[in-house]
Amino acid sequence: MRRHRNAKIIATLGPATSSAQKIHDLFVAGADVFRLNLSHGSVDEHRERVGVIRGLEKQTGRPIGILLDLQGPKIRVGDIQNGKATLEEGQSFTLDGNDTPGDANRAPLPHPEVFAALRPGNALLIDDGRIRLEVKRCGGNFAETVVKIGGTLSDHKGVNVPGVVLPLSPFTKKDKQDLAFGLDIGIDWVAASFIQRREDLVQLRSLVEGRAAIMSKLEKPAAIQHLDHIVELSDSVMVARGDLGVELAPEQVPSIQKKIVRVCREAGKPVVVATQMLESMVSAPLPTRAEASDVAGAVYDGADAVMLSAETAVGKYPVEAVAIMDRIITEVEKDPHYRAILDARLPQPTPTDADAICDALRRIAHTLSIAAIVTYTSSGFSALRAARERPEAPILSLTPSTQTARRMALVWGTHSVQSEDIRRVQEMVDKACSVALKEGFADVDQKIAIVAGMPFGVSGTTNMVRIARIDRLEE
Ligand code: PGA
Ligand code: MN
Repeated sequence: MRRHRNAKIIATLGPATSSAQKIHDLFVAGADVFRLNLSHGSVDEHRERVGVIRGLEKQTGRPIGILLDLQGPKIRVGDIQNGKATLEEGQSFTLDGNDTPGDANRAPLPHPEVFAALRPGNALLIDDGRIRLEVKRCGGNFAETVVKIGGTLSDHKGVNVPGVVLPLSPFTKKDKQDLAFGLDIGIDWVAASFIQRREDLVQLRSLVEGRAAIMSKLEKPAAIQHLDHIVELSDSVMVARGDLGVELAPEQVPSIQKKIVRVCREAGKPVVVATQMLESMVSAPLPTRAEASDVAGAVYDGADAVMLSAETAVGKYPVEAVAIMDRIITEVEKDPHYRAILDARLPQPTPTDADAICDALRRIAHTLSIAAIVTYTSSGFSALRAARERPEAPILSLTPSTQTARRMALVWGTHSVQSEDIRRVQEMVDKACSVALKEGFADVDQKIAIVAGMPFGVSGTTNMVRIARIDRLEE
């Protein structure tokens, strides 16, 4: 089973998509990576979803990425009676440290550090800014506010306090527990929320100890200031436009998004554009034209992946949202201008053997119209450097490591296959040809380009390219 597109799709799982059938349908519709959002749901629910995904891998023979998204020091409203309440503009509304479920007059906010930092006049933005409160009076464990923009307040919605510096550690006790849980059940990527400084990543790396790859969610102004350092210390990056558009002004998001994608492409780190991509599909069967255009824009920029959040987690049309995303990506990638736009932003190779070879690979793919690039990789590094070139041929990433195979599901243009290590050059050629044929990437008489490192099986040795023609099958 192969996909016919380069950009990948991440689908967030939630109450709307927890059954084995729904997860299967999302995968068939085009989801390459599933996101578990630890801001919602119980550990048992997430464990069950992981079980379903791993079962699906067995059934389809395809490696699937699982992204564990840690809540981070996100401030959230506590429980609300019946899950939601309606706030009207102009009414007063209190947030307090009392943990009885809230209603239309008050709600719990279990974050004393917020009350300590608030001053009258501060704005509190709830649910990515959909609800706006202004602080009138506040004290050690309460804030009386007036509702400036009303709406439906539901359980556990996020709260942002723009312009107020809160003394928060990037990993809460819950994050550490969730991370240990995730590593235990074998997640492939861990996404860290509200990363601000390189020290946050140093700390996360020491907790993860290489058991998962690290994705930094960029959603704070400080992270944008330290963008180069953060990208350098991350394995991938998410443009988390929900919080970013609240912490900064929404009009600042488009140029920051483009900048992050540019910096990540230059660094060869997978970059994900996330949040509100097809938001209206939470309740409608078709996206707005503006949403379709937003997804397309990220694809034209060369993002590795686009992500669905509420659309698939709680929406009415989760499978349709993935299917439409798949169609938008496919359509963009057929546009003759797509290639020209990608090439205009082609990063220069760094002076390393791997980059010199991958630069050559891109030219070979163009000059010979080869059917596929096949990389032999243990850590995924060669596949990543090949993907950095955004070549015209799809990349088959062959690796003996289950974990690498799953991680690579996130990467632009890469079709990941788990396969045993090779020992000889002839074996390298034979296996590349048979995998390309079997996975539906090449036909008999077509050419492929193979990249590998000798000695075989040693990470970081990328040093050879071999062009091969697929032989006629033995009868
Ligand atoms: P969240 O992250 O959905 O966990 O808040 C994404 C974002 O902020 O855009
Ligand atoms: Mn966020």
